[in-house]
Amino acid sequence: MEIFSCLGKHNYEQLVFCQDKESGLKAIIAIHDTTLGPALGGTRMWPYASEEEAIVDVLRLARGMTYKSAAAGLDMGGGKAVIIGDPHKDKSEALFRAFGRFVEGLNGRYITAEDVGTTVEDMDIVLRETRHVCGLGAKAGSSGDPSPVTAIGVWKGIKACAGAVWGEESLAGKTIALQGLGKVGYHLARHLHDEGARLIVADIITDRVDRVKRELNVQAVAPEAIYDVPCDIFVPAALGAILNDDTMGRLGCRLVAGPANNQLAEDRHGDLLHQKGILYAPDYVINAGGVINVADEFNGAYDRERALRAVEIIPRNLAEVIRVSRRDNIPTYKVADLLAEKRIATLGRIKNILLPCR
Ligand code: NAD
Repeated sequence: MEIFSCLGKHNYEQLVFCQDKESGLKAIIAIHDTTLGPALGGTRMWPYASEEEAIVDVLRLARGMTYKSAAAGLDMGGGKAVIIGDPHKDKSEALFRAFGRFVEGLNGRYITAEDVGTTVEDMDIVLRETRHVCGLGAKAGSSGDPSPVTAIGVWKGIKACAGAVWGEESLAGKTIALQGLGKVGYHLARHLHDEGARLIVADIITDRVDRVKRELNVQAVAPEAIYDVPCDIFVPAALGAILNDDTMGRLGCRLVAGPANNQLAEDRHGDLLHQKGILYAPDYVINAGGVINVADEFNGAYDRERALRAVEIIPRNLAEVIRVSRRDNIPTYKVADLLAEKRIATLGRIKNILLPCR
């Protein structure tokens, strides 16, 4: 694999390989862009089949964070880390402390947090070796699990999109197909249910489905059947790449809006949704609640009320994306990219203004 040509393709700044034989640590940290601030992005632990697969994933995820933070109005750049390993078997105190030391070595250019395969508790261990970690449970003034705030941002984002599609934001009486009842999906189900939506849900873990069925008035279908459910809104809250050649013809909704990262298998699926008249809420715009929540730690001690006020940017951003998409007849995912790139370019330029010596 030609590393520099991969980095050059989307102008990545830095790729760092971290190895510690004793603890078994094999980690890769990617810093995509620090124009707006330090590269913020979680650490994913996953049993990648090859080093190349891990590199491709960390690069893709780091670039996604640049766009997510830029769109969310944060003073943060984009980065991500991956630890190659099985989160069920390979975790240890030494592994996360070794990782923390490598993060500390970057001296604040990269700030980490939890992600798929890592937890708030793992990050509490990382904290023992570096200041550059957030979303913690053990540290006073930290923001903890971002999922409930991600769910609030997605719920408000869905309402903004509903307003654009049906002329009113209320979700009462809307049929919503929700794929995935994990950390975000569970909280989201509660908000949607409380607003009077009719929920049809699916998850591959039966306990999660049973819990939601017990607590809320929902109908459940088999995981593979969720794409075929006639509904107003399809909410992906599980996997990436679920908007693909197989599912595209099956969706019977007018709106796709949910928290899952990287929902479009390829850009052309975003083009197809646009042609079909199905409104797609760009994933990194609607799911930014988590990163907005964690970034609040950099405004002093974490303040949940302040973080929730900042999350209000999500419905505003979606309204702007939809407005430009309709005005210029451009798919929403492209509009989101253009708006994020414009913010980075504009704010990057103002950094050229010379400040007097202090
Ligand atoms: P999670 O792992 O807690 O939940 C995912 C759920 O999806 C699990 O319950 C899993 O069993 C289920 N699932 C997996 N495959 C499925 C399938 N084929 N059909 C139905 N269900 C399936 O993860 P999460 O934290 O809730 O995140 C959900 C999505 O949102 C992910 O794509 C994540 O990257 C994204 N996201 C999460 C946050 C956050 O704050 N947690 C922030 C931004 C984006």
